[in-house]
Amino acid sequence: MDAKTLEQLEQKAAKFIKFQTGKKITWCGNCGNYGIQNALARALVLEGFEREDILLCFDVGCSGNGSDKFEVNTIHGLHGRVLPLAAGAALANSKIKVIAEAGDGATFSEGVNHLVHAVRNNYPVMFIHHNNENYGLTTGQASSLTRCGATMNGTPDGVVVEPINSLDFVLSLKPSFVARGFSGEVDHMTELFRTALRHKGFAFVEVLQFCPTYNRLTPDAWYAERVKFIEDLKGYDRNDIWAARRVVADLEKDIYLGVLYEDPKKVDFLSAQVSRMGVTSELVDEVRRYGVE
Ligand code: SF4
Repeated sequence: MDAKTLEQLEQKAAKFIKFQTGKKITWCGNCGNYGIQNALARALVLEGFEREDILLCFDVGCSGNGSDKFEVNTIHGLHGRVLPLAAGAALANSKIKVIAEAGDGATFSEGVNHLVHAVRNNYPVMFIHHNNENYGLTTGQASSLTRCGATMNGTPDGVVVEPINSLDFVLSLKPSFVARGFSGEVDHMTELFRTALRHKGFAFVEVLQFCPTYNRLTPDAWYAERVKFIEDLKGYDRNDIWAARRVVADLEKDIYLGVLYEDPKKVDFLSAQVSRMGVTSELVDEVRRYGVE
């Protein structure tokens, strides 16, 4: 490696460290959150973001325990409510990049109503869905994405209902961007995050996440044997929503990763507001104090 390349790499590494607070990590060993956090920090650096350009919004859950690990603007919302919080921030100030993170319990149980409207409205938010198929923070209860038959704390005889297919559910809402990564594929996830950061509307990125402590049905080795890259599926058209829905139907055998669907024509919520067209100020700049007599 020549001196110039080494210098460039060192500069990038310094920026990468810049995003991390160094606060005590509370995740279990080999948790998929480590890979997700690293991929996000790398993606932010590679896309040229500075600390002040970013707002990270966290839900409650193991993923939410990443909220004090990033040296950027962060906010921690109520359980299941991170999407309206993130959407409000993004609409108030479009100069910052708003990223929201939540687990499968928060997203597909408590907050599923918010997910529906975030997708429909195409809010300008990048959303990382940490899918470890359980409520990890509260010690491994079944979520609405836990597979049938899984024995969990709270359902020791096994889950008796079929899980929601998360991506098929999102695709049924006519989203503008859907991608899937895997916490064991950090380089691939970094590239997915970079693409999602460039998307103008609501970018739904699911990460299949290891939870070695509570998810015993689908451990990392199980995923490693099944994940495939959508780029290797010959003739796949990521603008075809029905092709995407066919691909995501399989949760057992061929689990495809990558940008699975994109609608380049769908306009994001803010750009569609006639009253904001031609306005150069942000909503936060327009806040005024009024006296009420
Ligand atoms: Fe990670 Fe699971 Fe531990 Fe939570 S419970 S920190 S998701 S391994």
